[in-house]
Amino acid sequence: MGGPDGGSRAGGPLRTSSRSRLGTAAGFDLAPILLFWETTRACGLACRHCRAEAIARPLPGQLSTAEGLRLIEDLRRFAPRRPVLIFTGGDPFMREDLWELSARARAAGLPIGFAPSVTPRLTVEAARRMRAEGARTVSISLDGADALTHEGVRGVPGHFAETERAVRMLVREGLNVQVNTTVMRGNVEQLADIAALVASWGAHIWEVFFLIKVGRGTALDELTPKENEDVVHVLYEASRYGFIVRTVEAPFFRRVVAERRALADEVDPAARFGLGSLYRRLVDRLRAVLGPPGESRAQSVGTRDGKGILFVAHDGDVFPAGFLPVRLGNVREDDIVELYRRHPLLRAIRSASFSGRCGRCEFADTCGGSRSRAYATTGDPLGEDPACAHRPEAGSLPEADLGRGP
Ligand code: SF4
Repeated sequence: MGGPDGGSRAGGPLRTSSRSRLGTAAGFDLAPILLFWETTRACGLACRHCRAEAIARPLPGQLSTAEGLRLIEDLRRFAPRRPVLIFTGGDPFMREDLWELSARARAAGLPIGFAPSVTPRLTVEAARRMRAEGARTVSISLDGADALTHEGVRGVPGHFAETERAVRMLVREGLNVQVNTTVMRGNVEQLADIAALVASWGAHIWEVFFLIKVGRGTALDELTPKENEDVVHVLYEASRYGFIVRTVEAPFFRRVVAERRALADEVDPAARFGLGSLYRRLVDRLRAVLGPPGESRAQSVGTRDGKGILFVAHDGDVFPAGFLPVRLGNVREDDIVELYRRHPLLRAIRSASFSGRCGRCEFADTCGGSRSRAYATTGDPLGEDPACAHRPEAGSLPEADLGRGP
């Protein structure tokens, strides 16, 4: 399989093997891989795509220490695996009881990760404590390759240098560091240079988030589907430089990973997939700053909102993901294990019961589209993801009418 006419888009074999390897064996119907707990909304930053102002104190209704400890105990009941519990926010370091919670998670045998904001609270001592607690990953946001762009998003002068210092410090302290980047019109041309920073700072994972039009994210210019297609192919190329690359709210990256892995070496991907000038510019830049590529480390585990992923908000409300505001229940009154396993929406998401292009797509199981974006755009969490350029009914390449390239 592979080559210009070799059927790399043919979905049958890919879909079958993906189902058995990822869907059943990984037990997505029984337990999530990742559970994000928004421990608090409090945060010292005021990022453009998050909120207008910093929030100094917890909002009313935040889960108490006792409720948090109970949630951790409840998560122990997930089987065949316990999910990785990600302490996120807001800034989880704004919770005075964070170490008590993480110690309980460790005692409960839950793998953990942290998603702190880069503030003076992120100290060497905090890094050592996270390591001592057995943190699997620590994720840090970087939204530009230079101070002007990054600080334009983060709203704090000097934050770019602080972010570099934080990433390097965490790497030095032996933590597995993930750099998170939100791709938007204002930084898309910098993606190759951001990838170069990820590599030179020694980070292990680059996670690239694609905007969902909710809240302040609305004001930030989304990319067209055709540009998204260029970008996910660029991300595949970036994954050839020693760090893992994955996406958030762009599961069609996995379609592209499958397509690229099936492509013969001598075939030009830009020609094969009809990619635009954005792709060519960014790949040229990648080669210029990082040199010849190696093997891809693109991550292609078939999770999506509600399938392998679950989100608990600061007040205990449970959602399929942080950007999918369909409330499933609340940990104060519902059994989180039962919610994950039995909620009709999550079951429909996991069985790929979608409408529109995602419903007809040969990649429905491995990809399935962003459920958050489908909901934000159509009001239907099972609708199609409008950010994807793939046209399953055509079985062909992204077409020019799907969006303007630069
Ligand atoms: S049409 Fe939907 S399921 Fe198919 S690749 Fe695009 S986003 Fe994924």
